[in-house]
This record gives sequence, C-alpha cells and structure tokens, in this order.
Amino acid sequence: FLPILLHLLFSATTPYTTLPSVLLIGPSGAGKTALLTLFERGPLYTPDAPPSADKPSVPTPVAKTHTSQAPSTVELAISTDKKTTTNDTNAASYRTDLDAAGATAKKFLLVDTPGHPKLRRHALSHLASASPTIKPSSISATSSETHKSKLKALVFVADAAALADADSGALASTAEYLYEVLLALQRRFHGRGGSRAPASVPVLVAANKLDLFTALPAALVKSQLEAELGRIRKARSKGLLTTGEGDGDEVGAGAGGEEGDGWLGAYGTEKFSFKEMMEFDIEVEVIGGNVLGEGPGADKWWNWIGERV
Ligand code: GDP
Repeated sequence: FLPILLHLLFSATTPYTTLPSVLLIGPSGAGKTALLTLFERGPLYTPDAPPSADKPSVPTPVAKTHTSQAPSTVELAISTDKKTTTNDTNAASYRTDLDAAGATAKKFLLVDTPGHPKLRRHALSHLASASPTIKPSSISATSSETHKSKLKALVFVADAAALADADSGALASTAEYLYEVLLALQRRFHGRGGSRAPASVPVLVAANKLDLFTALPAALVKSQLEAELGRIRKARSKGLLTTGEGDGDEVGAGAGGEEGDGWLGAYGTEKFSFKEMMEFDIEVEVIGGNVLGEGPGADKWWNWIGERV
C-alpha cells in the first residue's frame, strides 16, 4: 500500500524559505490536535474500528493528542496540480504521496494552538497585526526566530457533537471563542493604515466529529453558531451602551463611521450571518467532516486549505 502520508519536512531541509502558515484554532477537545496529526501522518483509525478490506490496516496507534501549552507546528505539502492525481479518487488528498505523484507541491505550516481559555490570548495575538505572522518556534531548533511565517488562513475546529448537546454549554463557549477570533480579524481590517486593506485571512469553521450520529450537520452548525454569535453581539452591545464605557466610542458612535469596537459584522443588522464578515473582507465557510471514524472525512478541509495557501 501507499505509505500513509504527507510530507513532514523539517525546516532544516528548507532553511531559508518562509512558508505560509495556516492556524488551527478552536476550543479544547474539538479535535485540533487530532486533525494536525491526521494531516501529518495520514488516516487514523479508531482502535476498535472493524478492519476493512479496502483500507490499509494501520498498525500505528491513533496519535496521542497532547494537552498542548505551546503551539505545535508541522510542515505539510499540498498538490497544486490536481491533474496529476485525477486517476486517484483521492485527488489532492492529504493521503496522496506527492513525491510518488510527481506533483508540484505547495508547502505550508500548520500551527496548532492551545484551546484552553487562559491560553487563547496567545492564539489571538497572532491575528492582531495587519500582516499576521507566526513564529513556528516548535518546528525545529534550526528555524530561526526571525523566520516569520505569513498567516494565510484560519481553521476554527468545532465539535459538532458537543454543539448538539444543549446542556453541554458547548454552543455558548464555542461561539464565544469564534466571536473573539472574528472580531480580532475585523479589527485588523479597521486598523489598516490609509486605504490599504490588510491581506485577508479566510476562516474555515471545520464542523468536526460528523462520524458521531449525534453530531449536528454542518448546515445546523452554521445556523446555530450564527444565532449564538448574534446573541453575543446583542448582549455585548447592550453592555457597552448601558455602562457608557469607552469614552464616547459606544456602538455606532465612533468617528469616521467606525462601528463599536465590540460589534461583530455589519452594524445595525438584527440577525448575525457569516456573510456580513465579507464587509471586512473575511470569508467564513462552514464545512463538516471528521478526523476519526466513518464519515465525510477531512478531504474537503484539506482542499479548502489548498486553495488558500
Ligand atoms: P483539541 O483539544 O482540539 O486538540 O482536541 P483533540 O485533538 O485532543 O481531540 C479531543 C478528543 O476528540 C480526542 O479524544 C479525539 O480522539 C476526539 N476526536 C477528534 N476528532 C474526532 C472525530 O472526528 N470523531 C470523533 N468521534 N472523535 C474525535
């Protein structure tokens, strides 16, 4: 069988190039580390999954996810030439061995971030600047601190099974984090100097764990998150207006037509929709998938990333 795999090339082999990066972000337990490992090593299987004839039985155990304190980074390569793999049903998949396919590969860094609320600031701090960069500090000792990587896209991983459980509080906490992420990107847009818009950073909301029958389908993940983001926006704007904080910068009161600092999306709309973020050149797409088990898998996410790095 084809080796499972994607390239894991250490920066020692490409010492002087600065690769673009894609940031994995999202609440703890959503599956960020599992996804990173999947893209790094190829398909993972649940240990109790029945052996299937058309799949390699991978002796490698499911990668142990770690409670990460610092971001971990892997270097990946994605085919830029879909034609070379068209006779393969997994065209442009992370399963495709790019060397074997002889494809032109685009390399990028995938950076995992800690999902714990106390450590989120670190992930969000990457998003603040006009041209966000990542210091892939953990990729290798040879990677110089000065080699900063340009952020190309964000993958916000959400647990679609937890979102389906109304008692878990997952919807509120996931939306809270997503709100911060989108607001940080929106602020970048507002913080641009002069008329030059910062390079846009598209966001993929990866509705994970669709292998679980209890999981919400992607369309519902989208609508529920939109509804919750709308609720958060409303609650925050009330807070801003009633406390009178922000020295005259309350919602809609800022000079130069700038919206309130905490208002996400188009000002004045009743319901929040991800489309509103296009006003700030932020594309948000929700796509379902799974890292483990049977389901749509991770190919669509992989392709989404490939189109944006
Ligand atoms: P992180 O905190 O976002 O990095 O989440 P992890 O990658 O550590 O995953 C949290 C848990 O969810 C682990 O027990 C994973 O095995 C599990 N998990 C991740 N992806 C999936 C999936 O697609 N389906 C199922 N059923 N479980 C998953």
